[in-house]
Amino acid sequence: MDTQSRKVVVIGTGSVGCSYVYALMQTGLANEIILLDRDEERLEGEVMDLSHGLPFTPPVQIRAGCYTDCRDANLVVITAGTGQKNGESRLDLVQRNAAIVRSICDQVGDQTTECIIVIVTNPVDILTYLANRHLQWPRGRIIGSGTVLDTARFRTMLSRHCQVDARNIHAYILGEHGDSEIAAWSMAHIAGMNINKYCPKCRKCDYEKTHNQLVEDVRDSAYHIIDYKGATYYGIGLSLVRITEAILRNENSVLTVSTMLEGEYGLDDICLSVPCVIGRNGITSIIESNLPQKEKNGLQASADVLRKILDQIKT
Ligand code: NAD
Repeated sequence: MDTQSRKVVVIGTGSVGCSYVYALMQTGLANEIILLDRDEERLEGEVMDLSHGLPFTPPVQIRAGCYTDCRDANLVVITAGTGQKNGESRLDLVQRNAAIVRSICDQVGDQTTECIIVIVTNPVDILTYLANRHLQWPRGRIIGSGTVLDTARFRTMLSRHCQVDARNIHAYILGEHGDSEIAAWSMAHIAGMNINKYCPKCRKCDYEKTHNQLVEDVRDSAYHIIDYKGATYYGIGLSLVRITEAILRNENSVLTVSTMLEGEYGLDDICLSVPCVIGRNGITSIIESNLPQKEKNGLQASADVLRKILDQIKT
């Protein structure tokens, strides 16, 4: 992979793919953004629409492409698939989207073994697992967007509630990007102070009740948004820009992406989100915190949910 180039290939130019590209093109992070979709008319229309904004952005080439464009890509982002329908759980999507992601992985894998692949299509943890097993690349190079979005929602809600800038709040949602995800309260800090110490001092609310409510609100966010407007795409678009930034700038940032665990947190052969250090080569290390028993159990339960789904697909 050319370390000077900043080429991103986006497969799937639906609401998520295009929200991502729309945000990414304004950052100057990439110098080439290539779009692919099986719906050629939609692809052409999106490329035209997005590229008409180029006089207002830092220089970047945007065009429709094909799989050979992956050869020298730094990053391939897969958002192709079908969205979550009203009332449908993310896990219901698995069979439909697994076939799509497998076939896309084959076509990317025919061109390169060098880039980083970020899977966004849901259910993201299951599909990240299948992509890892399918391509057999080093695990740090096929990652899922995981709970980066959920973590952003968590920080946003904590920020609003505590009236402290979200950038001064460190807190993570771990596990499945979905109903079994957990809030790692043991890792939550405001201005360097653990939240379990901060809240009793602040005393602005009945904090135990508030904590439970916040976690519920984070978990239900996607359902509410889908109920109100049919799909979620801006939040994930910006979450993907954040992951892209960490990779293209070789930042070694800590993000809760979905990754194949090999014994970390007592879990093996499963993909879910834990704090990972990310740079140009993808995930370079996993930060293993000593979670309290309740959070360990939550993470284990989340892994069990995912394992059950995987067992169903394998048969
Ligand atoms: P969408 O229906 O608007 O777009 C999907 C696009 O994928 C369409 O343009 C379609 O033509 C294309 N596509 C389908 N199969 C393809 C294939 N084989 N090759 C190339 N293109 C193909 O859907 P959306 O709202 O953009 O959502 C996309 C995915 O992202 C969904 O699975 C959704 O659940 C997921 N999502 C994930 C997160 C997250 O945090 N991980 C958040 C929001 C949405």
